[in-house]
Amino acid sequence: MSINSIRDIRLARKNVFLRLDLNVPMEGETIQDDTRIRLALPTIEYLLENSCKVVIASHLGRPKPGKDNQKYSLEPVGLHLAKLLQKEVVFVTDYTTEPIDQLLNQLGKNQFVLLENVRFTEKEEENDKEFAKILMKGMDVFINDAFGALHRAHATTAAIADLVKPDCRGMGFLVEKEIVALDRVKRHPEHPYVVIMGGAKVSDKIGVMLQLLNQCNTLLIGGAMAYTFLHFKGYKIGRSKVELDQLKLVEDIFNAAEKRNVEIKLPLDHIVAKSFEASSEAVYIPHQDINGDYMGLDIGPNTIEAYCDIIDNAKTIMWNGPMGVFEWENFSKGTFSIAKSVGQSRGYTVVGGGESVSALKLSGFYDKVSHVSTGGGASLKYLEGAKLPGLEALR
Ligand code: AMP
Repeated sequence: MSINSIRDIRLARKNVFLRLDLNVPMEGETIQDDTRIRLALPTIEYLLENSCKVVIASHLGRPKPGKDNQKYSLEPVGLHLAKLLQKEVVFVTDYTTEPIDQLLNQLGKNQFVLLENVRFTEKEEENDKEFAKILMKGMDVFINDAFGALHRAHATTAAIADLVKPDCRGMGFLVEKEIVALDRVKRHPEHPYVVIMGGAKVSDKIGVMLQLLNQCNTLLIGGAMAYTFLHFKGYKIGRSKVELDQLKLVEDIFNAAEKRNVEIKLPLDHIVAKSFEASSEAVYIPHQDINGDYMGLDIGPNTIEAYCDIIDNAKTIMWNGPMGVFEWENFSKGTFSIAKSVGQSRGYTVVGGGESVSALKLSGFYDKVSHVSTGGGASLKYLEGAKLPGLEALR
């Protein structure tokens, strides 16, 4: 069964429960980056234009379930959302045992409801049906626009969808946009198709790499994960980060790449340091082996040049994970050069994963790529071919 878009659902004057991903980075009560809030606006505005009464739910961070932790309160997010929408937020903290349907009768045209962080109760992550029933009491429609939470089977992403008829549930504009973009690289990418993988851990990305090898022509590897690959190939990696328990899976990747004629590129040179600190002196190593006490913290200039050449000629590019510790200036050049190259590409470019998205923003190329995925984990799972519980629940 296909999934309804919000456009397919009869919405006029309905009570709508809207799941969003408002999980934004916070420093105290200050929102550090409101991208996720802004991306949710089209769906909320559409519902309000259709005279719906809107109840919004989201998680924020990882509070210990069962314990209210003000550090993770959604109240500042609600105030910001109200400002952007030029509406009034009715913030509800007590909704876990008593339905809020009565409140909707009094809700004015200029108002919307935001529930406190749904992860304050353990019932959310337990996918508790009774909890979902309390939330949906008096609601007519369920819309999920929380792309970043679709890979979780939680009460407000999975159990809740069963409580309405299939024609009263569907995806919001953001989820729809994400699926269209990811399907384009997953199902019919234009070639040459280049995948760029970086970041901290091979283990997080093995599944998706094996899947992407079915479609791509070249896989460029950087970041800490490159050292596990180089170690497997017999190069010296000094004190670089390595995942020895992943070597068998790295071998599977090389074997799969050989079978499918995919080229895997590893760093040719490195920027290294003696300790893992922002102030560490950056030392250039002009070859693949890293000797002694050094650890690799960024790709070197020859690697940048080689990778950028390949990116320049690509018609489809998927990038996930930084090439080095880009948060520290001394080790940021590799990631920012790749961001620039992806940003300047004339091909179809998709960037996913929280850290590569931050790097893209810092480099000033955020607006230049074809699609930025808001959910790193969800986009990797979707590309891997896994069924996303939040999406399946909408069928
Ligand atoms: P991920 O969330 O898996 O995409 O990993 C992102 C993190 O990997 C960033 O915070 C980087 O600082 C870190 N990272 C990238 N390259 C390295 C490296 N060579 N050594 C240690 N950490 C790295």
